[in-house]
Amino acid sequence: MTANITAHPARWWKALDDRKVRCLLCPRACVIPQDESGFCSVRKNVGGKLYSLSYGRPVALNVDPIEKKPLAEFLPGSRTFSLGTFGCNLNCSFCQNDSLSRGAYSGVFFGRCFPPEKIVELTLANNCPSVAFTYNEPTVFAEYAIDIALLAHEQGLKTVLVSNGYITPLAAQDLYPQIDAANIDMKGFSEEFYLSMTESSLKPVLTAIKRLYDAGTHLEITNLVIPGKNDSRELISAWLDWVEANLNKQVPLHFSAFFPAYKYHSSPRTPKSTLLQIKEYAISRGFTAVCLGNI
Ligand code: SF4
Repeated sequence: MTANITAHPARWWKALDDRKVRCLLCPRACVIPQDESGFCSVRKNVGGKLYSLSYGRPVALNVDPIEKKPLAEFLPGSRTFSLGTFGCNLNCSFCQNDSLSRGAYSGVFFGRCFPPEKIVELTLANNCPSVAFTYNEPTVFAEYAIDIALLAHEQGLKTVLVSNGYITPLAAQDLYPQIDAANIDMKGFSEEFYLSMTESSLKPVLTAIKRLYDAGTHLEITNLVIPGKNDSRELISAWLDWVEANLNKQVPLHFSAFFPAYKYHSSPRTPKSTLLQIKEYAISRGFTAVCLGNI
């Protein structure tokens, strides 16, 4: 590793034979040979130890309305200091943000370092009551998010997680207690959809959602609605059944419109009428906070 790369020791991994490592941060459980990175591209085996390449290196910093995360019922009307890095542990063919999620750091450090204290300083300087881990998948920079969250809480700030929920219980037990509000992206309520469209699985996501809910974290859930893929009445109904049985009908549910992007152009942009029908159906079943996005 060259001297101008600032890599941070990873927290969840174990050593294997031949200087390989197994990453324990997400259910993908990558086995990573020396000098290679995991599926997310930002966790690298250097000398038989795992490092986070994105710690302290956000590539997107913005002040956003909290409703943009989206969070409808957490600090409404406020602005949140938002940051993201590169990398993602899923590979959604329909990714709406592939420049960050599928991007990767090159071998040369090209940007400024923002240690956790700098992020908190900027959050305060911008008069934001919260800091949000967003844009790409925060799970892949969980060490950084935890260190920022600890300092943010010392300053009376809240923390927001916008995530796909694809995380191991081992890492979730460290990251999630540091989060005040989360929006989890449930991409389609079937294992077949997750496998074919995201190269991952649904079950760990449901486990993560339940963990946040049971812990009393403010929870909202987003479902990107893709015509012909995850918008059938059967799937939407099964999803609402799950929410009703495992959470409650007051959890804010966001249904947002898809637009063709990245590798998936086989479906058209989601018609507004589709989202309105889903909303009407959810409300008819007693769900009280149904929001529509991207319309
Ligand atoms: S966080 Fe990245 S390296 Fe670790 S298991 Fe998941 S995809 Fe692989």
